[in-house]
Amino acid sequence: MAHHIDAGAEFHHPPEETMKQLRKSHIPIILAVAAAMVITAAAVYARAGGAGDFDSGGGGDDGIGFIIQIILWIVMELPFPWNLIVSGIIIVAFVIGSKMTAKKAKARTILNRLPTGDTVKKAPGRDAFMKNNPDFNEEVFLGNVRDAFMKIQKAWETQNLSGVRKFISDGVYQRFNTQFVMMGLLRQKNTMSRVDIKNVYIDRIDSDGLYDIIQAAVHASITESFTSELDPSLNTGGTEEFVEYWSFLKKRGRPRTDIYQSDSCPNCGTPLPKDMGEVSKCVSCGTLTNSGEYDWVLSEITQADDYVGANPKLGASAGLTEKVRRLIDENEDFAVQLVEDKASNGYLQMLTAQALGDPAVMRRFVSDEVFNSMPMPEPGARVAYNRLYLNDVYLVGVAVEEDKNVLAVAVKASCQRVKIDGGKAVKLDQAVMSRTEVILMSRDRKAGASKGSLYAHSCPSCGAPVENSLSINCAYCGNPFNSTASEWIITGVMPMERYEEYRRGNADSLAYQVKASQVDRLYDVRDFAFNNVMLVIAADGVFGDEELRFAEDLAKKWGYDREKLQPFFQMARNGRLSLRMPDDPKKRLKIFRMMEKAAEADRALSPEERLLLENVRTEFKIDTAA
Ligand SMILES: [Zn+2]
Ligand SMILES: [Zn+2]
Repeated sequence: MAHHIDAGAEFHHPPEETMKQLRKSHIPIILAVAAAMVITAAAVYARAGGAGDFDSGGGGDDGIGFIIQIILWIVMELPFPWNLIVSGIIIVAFVIGSKMTAKKAKARTILNRLPTGDTVKKAPGRDAFMKNNPDFNEEVFLGNVRDAFMKIQKAWETQNLSGVRKFISDGVYQRFNTQFVMMGLLRQKNTMSRVDIKNVYIDRIDSDGLYDIIQAAVHASITESFTSELDPSLNTGGTEEFVEYWSFLKKRGRPRTDIYQSDSCPNCGTPLPKDMGEVSKCVSCGTLTNSGEYDWVLSEITQADDYVGANPKLGASAGLTEKVRRLIDENEDFAVQLVEDKASNGYLQMLTAQALGDPAVMRRFVSDEVFNSMPMPEPGARVAYNRLYLNDVYLVGVAVEEDKNVLAVAVKASCQRVKIDGGKAVKLDQAVMSRTEVILMSRDRKAGASKGSLYAHSCPSCGAPVENSLSINCAYCGNPFNSTASEWIITGVMPMERYEEYRRGNADSLAYQVKASQVDRLYDVRDFAFNNVMLVIAADGVFGDEELRFAEDLAKKWGYDREKLQPFFQMARNGRLSLRMPDDPKKRLKIFRMMEKAAEADRALSPEERLLLENVRTEFKIDTAA
């Protein structure tokens, strides 16, 4: 019908006239299509960084080119004055659209994904987990997490891990143990007057080979005082509220044998020794209580900012575990988390060796080359690591060489280095700083079964206990400890930027690899800068109302959603932030410039702030002349 009328109309009018009529009737459709295109183009333009995103320069040309094409087409094809009206509408819509999208994109940041401590309704990974573990009792599990949390606070305060040793991994044991050594050097004491758990919930459940890992969030507040007799300027304290993530690991589908409320061996029932030290082992049957065979084992504690900022692609997963297991010809029991635990353990003992100036602490598990190149403080001097903790530990590379396998594990650690010279403390860092190092662990390709763990002081060849010593041969079986025949030995330690060289140089043998830039991927330049500015303004030990107002103003200026940043401000106020920098030197310079600007805007630069900025410049090798 419509076709017939059109055909008739054509008969009565001159052709151009008809075309104009036709186009006029199509204007609403053209407008609608153009509007949709403009919205898309505006979004592309804003996201690509054209509208002032901090991280990437340029890239918005696609959106603009597209719009110019549309406008040209409209000006040529539509009759006057419609062409100008429609073009005008499109330009206005484009400007408004890109501004709005840019604002939204800017407000979206890793810093406002910090948790509020409210229960997650449906934890990712939960359904698959329940299918594999139908007997799982969440109430009992969360009860044990609460119990573990309280017991660990007590163990921390009294510097006595005997009551919690049975349910923590060797790596977690070493995290505490190393801190006790550092606190001893700095003559520090941490007393707690009030520990209050507000909420405990399951945030996510991962799968890692034959193991499951439950990420339990603990929302708590603690009133404490952390004091140093050696240097009172290190003292901190007060009440802080926080969310931490506690990772618990257990073998999938195994019935649970309680190690939380029981003090007996989960395998044979013999009472466990009161003080097990480095190895959580039954004296009667030799079972390791913290292997994950029996009950949930605490294998990592992660702060909220590290947890939300972690690149999900780098986490332990069933796929990664299976891939690595095949590559290195490992047995079924292999899990990425277990390798990372071993790496953390070794890394922390190396720091202890350096702090104490005692190379015997690490001799047994490092290659001769690493041992000989490890810097030690000059005689009499000590360098302690104040507030030492591991932010994140990731497997970043797997190399398969002719006769050896090499695992590369990135360890991001935070601490403030303090030199102790003749009973006096000299701060080498003005604040707690995060640094990433990569450690290489090597083992023979056709490795024999290990009878013990060198990192937990037992001989891999015969299982006999191993003391800290400069001698590298076992007193029982005579085998060299640091042989790659049956244990992963540390054969390299390097900063992240040097690992990039290693990675490029070993491209042929690396069967699995992660680029350095991926490790910090979820933080952009602005996030690093904002985090560091917050740390700078809290550097004088105060984060009061005036500081908070400055922080909120800066947040607004930098396009953040202030409301959503409240948990982040809470972390700043609690002194929980550490100085962070990516590995890219260009980004470092950008971040440093933003920090300087912000520090200047904040009234006059205080001496602490000036000192800290100077410290950051030299520590992260920022070339301000560039
Ligand atoms: Zn036993
Ligand atoms: Zn031996």
